[in-house]
Amino acid sequence: MVDETARVPVRDDLADIAPYGAPQLDVPVRLNTNETPYPPPREFFARLAARLPDLPLQRYPDRRVSDLRAAIGQRFDRPIEGVWAAKGSNEVLLQIFQAYGGPGRRLLLADPGYSAHPLIALSATTDVVHVPLDEHFELDAAAATDAAKRFDPHVICLASPHNPAGNLVAPDVIRALHDASGALIVVDEAYVEFAPAGASAVHLLDELPRLVVCRTFSKAWRLAGLRLGYLLAPEWVIDDLRKVRLPYHVDAITQTAGLVALEMADAMTAHIRAIRDERMWLTERLERITGLTPYPSHANFILVRSARPGLFERLLDRGVLVRDFSHLRGLEGCVRITVGTRDEHEALLDALRSGG
Ligand code: PMP
Repeated sequence: MVDETARVPVRDDLADIAPYGAPQLDVPVRLNTNETPYPPPREFFARLAARLPDLPLQRYPDRRVSDLRAAIGQRFDRPIEGVWAAKGSNEVLLQIFQAYGGPGRRLLLADPGYSAHPLIALSATTDVVHVPLDEHFELDAAAATDAAKRFDPHVICLASPHNPAGNLVAPDVIRALHDASGALIVVDEAYVEFAPAGASAVHLLDELPRLVVCRTFSKAWRLAGLRLGYLLAPEWVIDDLRKVRLPYHVDAITQTAGLVALEMADAMTAHIRAIRDERMWLTERLERITGLTPYPSHANFILVRSARPGLFERLLDRGVLVRDFSHLRGLEGCVRITVGTRDEHEALLDALRSGG
């Protein structure tokens, strides 16, 4: 029994908040959290295992995460001073909101958008303002300019590809937000490796001095279980993030695993082609099902709108777990389906045909 009288009241703004997280249910087909179905190659584990005995785990890890940041920088032809890493891109975002948000400061987000963004902002006690997307989940440059001027935000954060819709933010929109505000512009590119080459905002970093690009090893690098994310930014941003990070925030094993992954980048990301092919295959099949509207996606998931309510529950009854957004404004009737294997897609389509 919990003694309620012994309870210390949580912060008022957290009292009614549900902890973030998609259900982790033990069902045959799990297509709800946008991981890749393909495990890392055996060689990744072999290389990592070979290095573990030499790690001085009795000591704290390199606080500056130097080798890993340098290796990430090398991939993008950028100096280590402009690279930051943390435990997942969620932690990178938390540190950004802690450093540039906080009491009395505003974060501009798209609505609808990635549901963790406002929650991370809340834990950093940052006010959130929203710019609505149109019915195709797009934001045009004029609307972006208008929102940036109206809200005068300190930070603007947009996911590209968008989660859950999968569309990209156009460079013109990023420029418009940058030019119409004094805000830090954060482009959250958790899924960009599944998009066509050139889709990334990385090429805008030298042009836009307040731009930050955030990435992760969780999706295209097949390492969601590791927790490693990073950011490319001007040097002063990294200096500021050091002020809010916990000491030794990236452990030694994660730093080593990130280095190993980067050394075998081609092998780690070889599955991207299969995901793109399956995305196309599944989208075509979903289009043929009456009452379902899949949205075109550049990510490893597909947003689907159903004319009939209860799609999430009907699929779950048939052993297929997807992500339910049907109760959210702008996403009425929608579920998000992670692109998986052909077998998983056949099971999903069977479930849909048998009444799902
Ligand atoms: N940004 C977006 C848009 C995401 O969808 C996710 C994962 N669901 C993240 C960031 C966080 O990823 P991670 O913390 O695993 O790097």
